[in-house]
Amino acid sequence: MLVIRHAGRHFMTAMKKIVFTLFQPATLALIILFWATIPAAMLDKAWVITAISIGTLVMVQALEFVNERHSGWRLDTREFLTDLFYVVLYFAAIAKVETKLAEEPLASAKHALGITTDWAMHLPFVAQVFLALFVMEFGQYWLHRLMHNSFLWWTHAPHHHITQLNAAKGLVGNPLELFLVSLSVIALFDLPLNALFCAYNLTGAIAAFAHANVRFYTPRWYAFFFTTVEPHSLHHTVGFAETRCNYANALILIDRMFGTFRAGEAEVVGQDERKRLLISQQFLFPLRPLLAMLKANQGKPVSPSG
Ligand SMILES: [Zn+2]
Ligand SMILES: [Zn+2]
Repeated sequence: MLVIRHAGRHFMTAMKKIVFTLFQPATLALIILFWATIPAAMLDKAWVITAISIGTLVMVQALEFVNERHSGWRLDTREFLTDLFYVVLYFAAIAKVETKLAEEPLASAKHALGITTDWAMHLPFVAQVFLALFVMEFGQYWLHRLMHNSFLWWTHAPHHHITQLNAAKGLVGNPLELFLVSLSVIALFDLPLNALFCAYNLTGAIAAFAHANVRFYTPRWYAFFFTTVEPHSLHHTVGFAETRCNYANALILIDRMFGTFRAGEAEVVGQDERKRLLISQQFLFPLRPLLAMLKANQGKPVSPSG
């Protein structure tokens, strides 16, 4: 009996190892297959991309309860409700504002200027997806890097004040930052809608993996190209200077290209002595330098002349 139980446990451990080795690459392959074969009638429905993106996120979140990475990152009610708030905010508002204020005007400008990239329409589907992924990630990389090296840090800091990582934490941050970091020039390219949606779905899945409290046994080739939780947790480490590496949201390859890749991982994450911010503080964070200035001026003695 004991031997059977022992063998059973060994079998389960081996299975878990296989599943958590293949999970990330298999998910990306399934996403590509799904969007490559989606019927046109389904592609037209606006809710499909949102539903699939949220479904992917929920799946990665569920994995946290199967193979946890750090008990200190375990999702409690407070963290869950905050994450849920930002998921709703992103899909109900930020993604829509992005389309109206950035994507649509850029597409109109492209049309007015007569810019065409017809060649992109003739590429194989997988090449179209990776072209879209690279264009979006390239912009995101530089904007994110700029945020760590300029006044834009005030918009991005709330994302770094999170004190634990979970699947939806990629969407937690100041709304202005969430808007800025999603800006891209992808609307300048002629690409089929299913390739674009596939690229969005892939970046969402990879960002969820990179923030998830899941112990993956990632294949080395996968971690060479795609962002995983190890380099991204290092990006979330406590010292501000140490956060200046591993900027890529989904394609860590870009950090390797520009010399900002750093190997390693961090379990203790956060900023400013790991003070956890409330949603209201995350929203008001970019105003902090202004408020500090006003406060400093208030403290100054009034000059006699006036
Ligand atoms: Zn950052
Ligand atoms: Zn992050």
